[in-house]
Amino acid sequence: MFYIRFYHRKKNIIFQVLKIMTSNICPNYKECTLVNKELSLNEDIYRYYINNYCCCKAGSWSGCMRFRAKEELNFCPDFVLPDSEMTIDEVIDRFDTENI
Ligand code: SF4
Repeated sequence: MFYIRFYHRKKNIIFQVLKIMTSNICPNYKECTLVNKELSLNEDIYRYYINNYCCCKAGSWSGCMRFRAKEELNFCPDFVLPDSEMTIDEVIDRFDTENI
């Protein structure tokens, strides 16, 4: 019984990962604060990020630093932008510094 449950769970996880990888739109699209215009960005920059990261192909949004931060930390601070050149450790350090 355990093996059957394990098999179905594993199959479901693989299906979900394949679904995400073949999607053109970032899985965080609906709740992303950048997409929801909760960050103060001008319209051109906002459009640039949407067109080049959020709505392209998996290779685009998976390279977004906001996406990577959400994957690693389960949240993404507002100061992180799609093309931020920060490591996850640097994101954590800055977040901690700003929230002391
Ligand atoms: S690609 Fe980045 S900015 Fe766009 S929705 Fe995903 S996490 Fe947000």
